[in-house]
Amino acid sequence: MAYTFRGGIHVEEHKNTRTSHIEPMPAPPLVKIPCSQHIGTPCSPLVSIGEHVLVGQKIGDVSGGLGVPIHSSVSGVVREIEELSTPIGARIKNIVIENDGKNEVSPAVKPFPKKLTEATPEELIDMIREAGISGMGGAMFPTYAKIQSARGKVDKLIVNSAECEPYITANHRLLLETPAQVINGVKILLYTIGIREAIIAVEDNKINAINRLSELLAKDKMIRIAVMKTKYPQGDERQLIYALTGKELPTGKLPSDAGCVIFNAETCAAVFKAFSTGTPLISRVVTIDGDCVAEPKNVLVPIGTRYSDLIDFCGGLTAMPKKIINGGPMMGFAQWDINAPVTKGTSAILVFSEKAEPHYELPSACIRCGRCVAHCPMHLMPSYLAMFSQHGMYDLAEEYGAMSCVECGSCSYNCPGQVQIVQHIRVAKGAIKAAAAAKKAAEK
Ligand code: SF4
Ligand code: SF4
Repeated sequence: MAYTFRGGIHVEEHKNTRTSHIEPMPAPPLVKIPCSQHIGTPCSPLVSIGEHVLVGQKIGDVSGGLGVPIHSSVSGVVREIEELSTPIGARIKNIVIENDGKNEVSPAVKPFPKKLTEATPEELIDMIREAGISGMGGAMFPTYAKIQSARGKVDKLIVNSAECEPYITANHRLLLETPAQVINGVKILLYTIGIREAIIAVEDNKINAINRLSELLAKDKMIRIAVMKTKYPQGDERQLIYALTGKELPTGKLPSDAGCVIFNAETCAAVFKAFSTGTPLISRVVTIDGDCVAEPKNVLVPIGTRYSDLIDFCGGLTAMPKKIINGGPMMGFAQWDINAPVTKGTSAILVFSEKAEPHYELPSACIRCGRCVAHCPMHLMPSYLAMFSQHGMYDLAEEYGAMSCVECGSCSYNCPGQVQIVQHIRVAKGAIKAAAAAKKAAEK
């Protein structure tokens, strides 16, 4: 029987690109590489305007604190270092590079010089950091730091390939087309962390990928497949851990408190690529879909490619877009700039017209049906949280567990009253965090 968790919802899958082979996109004429594509301190540029750079060359790094470097995905000339706004309002420097079309690779790009078993964990952690690898499932936590904090604390590695968001099929195709890259990446991570058990968690709507992995891992003693029930948000770390281990993670606790460390499948593949070829994280698989896209597909995209170039590669737009989303429709972020760049955390770009957007005549109202409560995977009372937030009663929202909300959107998706529950909870969480920060500052 497939593993699962309590609560959650069944969403329309719209996995239109599940049979679309990953197509490598030629490097565009210009890339914009953001200096912050990870959680932590943004990078400072290591190059200046007018400088010539090569493919895989380090062009930015973090001088202290949590963070990973950034690298050029093309060879060419740095034209500009501009500040742009992210969808959540932060201002981030972007290194704009004009592609010279020569695709000259940096001499620094070379395979790891030792066999895996001859390397120390510290050397491998350093290699993973230098390759600029951060979580590619969207969380963007630096992978080297996750390994460091897992060593000595966990006994299980989980590969998160649930891919439970509608539309996105990038991980599915990766597992189907290049499963060895993921498996070898898992082996490197197991060795580096110093553990011997890994579980690749895949939802049961990807049977061909499950069969392919099962064939390859038939005799493997360390890595096994776990077939997960197709349900949203199966890919949320807490639901994954509960489904696989029966352990519930209270708010504020990390997967390592349950003895687990979780990596996205493409992050594992990136670790293997860095080890075997020396190539840092300069490209990733992105699903392009939505009713405005002429040819929805999965594309291997150079990091820094503008959405507009990527959409052109997919045949262009067929209608005026109403909404562009970076990520899935449930948890992704709406974008206002079609020239924003693909980053290490971009799993999908979805472009929808007005037709695809639901339009409601009546104002939203809670009819006390309780559906949101029944479906919340964190066992919260979303209707109450939304109400407290609307009335500015943030202390009550905190008391009722607002900070445990993982913002999965299962409550809003099912709400017959069209209450924008998640948005209200996000407002409450922001206010609670701001109040905590102000209190801390006052105490200092
Ligand atoms: S699902 Fe919507 S209408 Fe029903 S209780 Fe929750 S907020 Fe109210
Ligand atoms: S309250 Fe939060 S965790 Fe619960 S269903 Fe809504 S968005 Fe998901």
